[in-house]
Amino acid sequence: MNQYLFVLLSFVHVLADPDFAKLDGAPPSKIAVVGAGIGGTATAHFLRQHFGPEVSIDVFEKGSVGGRLATVTVNHQDYESGGSIIHSLNLHMQDFVQQLGYVAGKTAVFNGDEFILEETDWYLLDLFRLWWRYGISFIRLQMWVEEIMEKFMRIYKYQAHGYAFSSVEELLHSLGGSGFINMTRRSLSESLLELGVSQRFIDEVIAPIMRVNYGQNISIPAFVGAVSLAGAQANLWAVEGGNKLVCSRLLKLSKANLIQSPVTNITLRSTGIRRNRQLKNTSIVKTKLNCVHLDL
Ligand SMILES: Cc1cc2nc3c(=O)[nH]c(=O)nc-3n(C[C@H](O)[C@H](O)[C@H](O)COP(=O)(O)OP(=O)(O)OC[C@H]3O[C@@H](n4cnc5c(N)ncnc54)[C@H](O)[C@@H]3O)c2cc1C
Repeated sequence: MNQYLFVLLSFVHVLADPDFAKLDGAPPSKIAVVGAGIGGTATAHFLRQHFGPEVSIDVFEKGSVGGRLATVTVNHQDYESGGSIIHSLNLHMQDFVQQLGYVAGKTAVFNGDEFILEETDWYLLDLFRLWWRYGISFIRLQMWVEEIMEKFMRIYKYQAHGYAFSSVEELLHSLGGSGFINMTRRSLSESLLELGVSQRFIDEVIAPIMRVNYGQNISIPAFVGAVSLAGAQANLWAVEGGNKLVCSRLLKLSKANLIQSPVTNITLRSTGIRRNRQLKNTSIVKTKLNCVHLDL
């Protein structure tokens, strides 16, 4: 079933010493990235692309590469236990997995006793059956989610121009104006009913999607609900063998050094940034850094 959710949100904070101002000049000699989840490994990858082969990139990871992209093994089968399915508009992930295979599934609605609706190979038949049961609620929903996704896509333009935001509110406002901010303050069910989506559709389709994707109900804020619903659309995919493979692949591509150690402290100094690193059975090591990434 295709009822998951898809936005890989990672907040990349780049703290820089005065040298960082020279982005278009001499590259820094050493960069530390904290965390080897998708945020950290993608950052290592982009930093390598930006600064070239000379710069030394260290990625510090206290747990496993992949972070919240993780799998668990049950009865000799691996299952995604974190970020499971990727949306087709996640252009970075699309790009990252070009060299990896992907799998796709079908959607169904189960009421606890039987399947009320099952996706078939016949698109028109599926449309007719949806309309028969829910009227045009699914079209209204689709248009709503698409409009939000379209605005969300502006994030790639901001990134392409090297634009950064200092708060989540600022980011949301730039993407979708006050509409996005308001969506964080009202419930999903309220927004959908106002949109003209039927209660039956909310109960049979929306509520299960919220439960599966986030373990929540329809009273969650409309913004996060819309993100969750984007994960219930078509054109979803996952990486065969686990999405976490993208992280190890990115680390390899970036030729970054993986250091399996927690970062215990980061200190900003006027002359640069010093990171105190506590390695097992050793004293604290201090290293001058040009640039630091924080995974939050
Ligand atoms: C149950 C669940 C389901 C999800 N489903 C989806 C989905 O279907 N689709 C989707 O797109 N997204 C999904 N997400 C969200 C997605 O998994 C996350 O947004 C994404 O993986 C976060 O990546 P990240 O790199 O920002 O953070 P993380 O993956 O959390 O990586 C941070 C890393 O930093 C390390 N770290 C932290 N502090 C330190 C330190 N001091 N020193 C060294 N290392 C440190 C951690 O060990 C971790 O490995 C889901 C998340 C969860 C939990």
